[in-house]
Amino acid sequence: MLRRILSSLAIPLLLSACSTAPLTPPATASAGDPSSTAPDVSDAGQAVVSAADPRAAEAGAAILRAGGSATDAAIATMLALNVVEPQSSGIGGGGFYVRGTAEGEVETIDGRETAPAGADPQWFLDESGTPLPFPEAVLTGLSIGVPGNLRLAALAHEKHGQLPWADLFAPAITLARDGFTVTPRLHGYLERVKDRAANDPAGVALYYQADGSAIPAGSTLRNPDLAETLTRIAQAGADSFYEGPHGQALAEKIASVTPRRLGEAGAESGAMVAADIAGYEAKARTPVCGTYRLYRICGMGPPSSGATTVYAVLKQLERFDLAAMGPNSPVFWHVFADSQRIAYADRELYLADSDFVDVPVAGLTDANYLTRRGLLIDPKHALTKVEAGHPAGAAISRADGDEPVENGTSHFVVIDDDGNAVSYTSTVEGPFGSGHMFGGFFLNNELTDFSFSPEKDGKSVANRVEGGKRPRSSMSPSVVYDPQGKMVLVVGAAGGGTIPVQVAKAIIGVIDFNLSVESAIALPGLYAPGDTVYIEPGTALTAMQADLEAMGHTVAARSMPFKANAAQRVDGEWVGAADPRSEGAVAHP
Ligand code: GLU
Repeated sequence: MLRRILSSLAIPLLLSACSTAPLTPPATASAGDPSSTAPDVSDAGQAVVSAADPRAAEAGAAILRAGGSATDAAIATMLALNVVEPQSSGIGGGGFYVRGTAEGEVETIDGRETAPAGADPQWFLDESGTPLPFPEAVLTGLSIGVPGNLRLAALAHEKHGQLPWADLFAPAITLARDGFTVTPRLHGYLERVKDRAANDPAGVALYYQADGSAIPAGSTLRNPDLAETLTRIAQAGADSFYEGPHGQALAEKIASVTPRRLGEAGAESGAMVAADIAGYEAKARTPVCGTYRLYRICGMGPPSSGATTVYAVLKQLERFDLAAMGPNSPVFWHVFADSQRIAYADRELYLADSDFVDVPVAGLTDANYLTRRGLLIDPKHALTKVEAGHPAGAAISRADGDEPVENGTSHFVVIDDDGNAVSYTSTVEGPFGSGHMFGGFFLNNELTDFSFSPEKDGKSVANRVEGGKRPRSSMSPSVVYDPQGKMVLVVGAAGGGTIPVQVAKAIIGVIDFNLSVESAIALPGLYAPGDTVYIEPGTALTAMQADLEAMGHTVAARSMPFKANAAQRVDGEWVGAADPRSEGAVAHP
């Protein structure tokens, strides 16, 4: 059974024409309308998939139907998304996988891309030491990290797969080989982000017509190169992507589009080599968990800033009676904004790849520390100044990095019949990643998630480029357990820096406001990573702007790339939800 959340025809695109500006689908009429507070259980079932595209959700459901585990179905969904939503994610990118059992065991796998071993902190600086303009960096091999999704999938499958590896590829291969219908959203991205989608002759041939216009919505698109690539990996395994002739050719492709550059010692340095690809490792990491109002929230730790930031935003608000305030109260949005500002100040200073930098995760998630940080929030007045705190273990003095522009990504969730959940966020970073293609898929631009500036005022930036390092992420695949220890919510989102806020809002919506997760996701978006509070245009927040300003906030309306997917347990059954701003869909086996 497949339920479209919105007809694709109902989703116009309001993408910015400027490729470096945030690209954002518009808020739809349903965003911000928490009218249905009671969870809709009409479409509930024991097992469920929620993804950003109905064909991808159905791919996961088909695998569940065939007896696959949540992990199997999540891998099939990830592969299908590569075909039908190429602007967002795929095997040319990376991701984070969080698996939770019904009984409360949580594990995470880090499939984040890595910089080539030859990369150095000067990677994104020109000869004069000035950071390269973003568009210049993104369209070259400088932005491409070693893709992580396939080794992530292989590790997850080794641990929790039930069906043969090759079976997981079947739905994606069928979509790529036989074709799929181009959605208005894909068409819109192809038109608006031509500098990336048409950066490579392969992209032009696949996605554009002779007159240069993007293949229209509603037409059938076949991607035989991707069908062939997926067929080979299905048969020969993930290693065949990383090693041997494929790994070698992939490294050569990336090196061929990487500008020559000189490293610190004046020697040529940098570009990707076959050993970088062959040596890629997906890493099992310790999940980051914390308790918010007796609920246990678990997610992805470094190199993601996701779990620490989601948790900080929530925990700092614990002393407030958010339920009494409700989502129509400007005071709620004010305290939510200031909690974000406090959390993002810490994120900016401390979060990076913990294999390279000491990240004080225990200090940042310590309940006493966060309670103290939360005491800074005044329910009547906006903070005039927000600074990073001093969590335990934060001995080293660091500088803030630059916050990159982001906009790709897909989150999906799967619950299987055994009650195991997978919450997986997959990304090529920006729309169509670097725009460079290989074997029918786009190569990521994840390395632009590093801070271009390696140091400020003589202090090093935690998220600076280093050889073999993983750029800091915002992706926040999460699972939530209720006070009885039963899994109750599985959630994540796309949208760059806004991701932790979307996840925190969904959790507050469910726990504090007693909304269905679908209504919680649909609540208006407010994002306050710094001193400006951005509000989603065309929502109930517009009417609250004056109240927020009266409390001392600087407020600006801005379209933001919100796209969340989730599932919620209601009366023992799982109900899926997708963002009304997206083409997302829920499928049951
Ligand atoms: N690359 C981003 C990250 O890992 C996500 C991109 C996006 O969702 O816009 O944080």
